[in-house]
Amino acid sequence: MTDPTTPAPALRPETVAIVAGRPAHAPDEPLNVPVHLASTYVAGGEHVYGRYGNPSWTAFEDTLGALEGGRCVAFASGIAAVSAVLDLVPTGRRVVAPRHSYTGTVMQLDDRASAGRITVEYVDITDTAAVAAACEGAAMLWFESPTNPALEVADIPTLTAAAHAHGALVAVDNTFATPLLQQPLTDGVDIVVHSATKYISGHSDVLMGAVIAADPAHVDAITARRSLGGAIPSALEAFLALRGLRTLPVRMERAQATAAELVARLAGHPALDEVRYPGFGAIISIVVRGGAAPAEALVGRTRLWIHATSLGGVESTFERRRRWPAEAPTIPEGLVRLSVGLEHVDDLYADLTGALDEVAGAGDFADDAVSRHPLT
Ligand SMILES: *Cc1c(COP(=O)(O)O)cnc(C)c1O
Repeated sequence: MTDPTTPAPALRPETVAIVAGRPAHAPDEPLNVPVHLASTYVAGGEHVYGRYGNPSWTAFEDTLGALEGGRCVAFASGIAAVSAVLDLVPTGRRVVAPRHSYTGTVMQLDDRASAGRITVEYVDITDTAAVAAACEGAAMLWFESPTNPALEVADIPTLTAAAHAHGALVAVDNTFATPLLQQPLTDGVDIVVHSATKYISGHSDVLMGAVIAADPAHVDAITARRSLGGAIPSALEAFLALRGLRTLPVRMERAQATAAELVARLAGHPALDEVRYPGFGAIISIVVRGGAAPAEALVGRTRLWIHATSLGGVESTFERRRRWPAEAPTIPEGLVRLSVGLEHVDDLYADLTGALDEVAGAGDFADDAVSRHPLT
């Protein structure tokens, strides 16, 4: 007989993704928390008003929080989550951030800096000693790992310890790795941010964000930012994001295996200067030989790979990142970021290399073949 005082063994992430955030196993309870469309609630309970809480958010938050090892606060978008975290930086203080980051985050940092609210120091996140030194006097160390789209990997425990030694808060955008491949809170990071739009939702039909923290003071501060700022998710999107999260482990396992196989097959391809892959996850950055024009030609010549921004969907997408003016000038003009989906690896490889071979055989390209977007 099981001793009832023995704690149950910790569940594996694959199980947590399925069992967390469910109604009780009781007669007539639905298996899933439904979409709660409610602007207000009868007084005296937990939810009070639709901007403060919603059971459909809670089901999502309980599940993602359990996977990351903290408490989760859902937001309207990834960038709304980024904004809530940057709001924790006191006026006049400094943020240390990687020079290669999601462009929306860089724009948000630059916007705050140009308004005189904060200062920003951009660093090479792989230069651990330099980042640690930059943390002296900083209020926050913010980073992504792997970085977007350079796919550099940061030494999370060492950077976190260094930032804490200088009294700086540490926030990590874990969108690319997901809690299955990396749990920054277990490395001592204070705050984790997600664009749930990407792998967590996984089907290119939802925009949502999340912040996860272990310290109740941080959770309260972030929850206050959501209630004050009003960047709340819709109940339907929270429902869809949780439905996506249920299959994240199997999706990530397959996408990662396909990505690793594509990297192995693409190595040394004559149309490529470089194939970048951090060794985990399902994002690959390739650098097309010849720069912007052949890279633009490539994204227009595939049948399966969809030319689209964003990432983490079941369908494989790709784009030339320097088409965005906010992308760092240190990112090569010919860099195309691939988001590997769930199609068969042989089909993806054949489609991509077919287009690459056409581009390589097409000779010189005119410069006006290059598109430039006015906004991120
Ligand atoms: C997309 C993305 C964001 C922003 O999220 P949205 O849901 O688009 O607002 C933030 N960080 C990273 C790494 C992203 O890829």
